[in-house]
Amino acid sequence: MAVERTLAILKPDCVKKNLQGEVIARIQKAGFKVLGFKMIRLTKEAAGAFYAVHKGRPFYDGLVEFMSSGPCVPIALEKENAVADFRTLIGATDPKDAAEGTIRKLYADNKGENIVHGSDSPENGKIEVAFFFSGSELV
Ligand code: UDP
Ligand code: MG
Repeated sequence: MAVERTLAILKPDCVKKNLQGEVIARIQKAGFKVLGFKMIRLTKEAAGAFYAVHKGRPFYDGLVEFMSSGPCVPIALEKENAVADFRTLIGATDPKDAAEGTIRKLYADNKGENIVHGSDSPENGKIEVAFFFSGSELV
C-alpha cells in the first residue's frame, strides 16, 4: 500500500469542547504520523474556499459559518493508506450513521458539527495539506 498524506481538521466544535487532546490521541494510536499541526481561526472567505466543492449545496452557508465560528486545528497526517484509514477512524459524516467506536460516533453532536474533517482522496489529501501548510511546516 502507498504512503499517503491526508488532512485532518479538528473543527470548532472539537476545540470548544476541549477534545483536541483526546482526538489527537486516537489519531496517533491508530498509527498516523503527525507532520504538522497548528491552531488557526478561518475567515469566512478561507472556510468558503476550503469547502468550495460544496458551493451551492443547501448546507454550504451553514458550514462556512460554523467553520469560521472559532479556532480549529488543521493536522497534516501521513501513513500507508492514510486517506481511507482516516475516514474509517472518524466514521460517517452523520454521527447517527457512524460505526461504534469512531471519532464522530463518540464525540459529534450532528451531521454539521461533526468534530473532524478528513480528506476524501489521496489527490485531495495533498491539495488540502498544502492549503494549510507550507513545505517547511511539514516536518
Ligand atoms: N455537512 C452538513 N450537512 C450535510 C452534509 C455535510 O452540514 O448534509 C457538513 C459536515 O460538516 C461535513 C462537511 O459539510 O463534514 C463536508 O461534507 P462532506 O459530504 O464532504 O462530508 P465529510 O467528507 O466531512 O464526511
Ligand atoms: Mg468531504
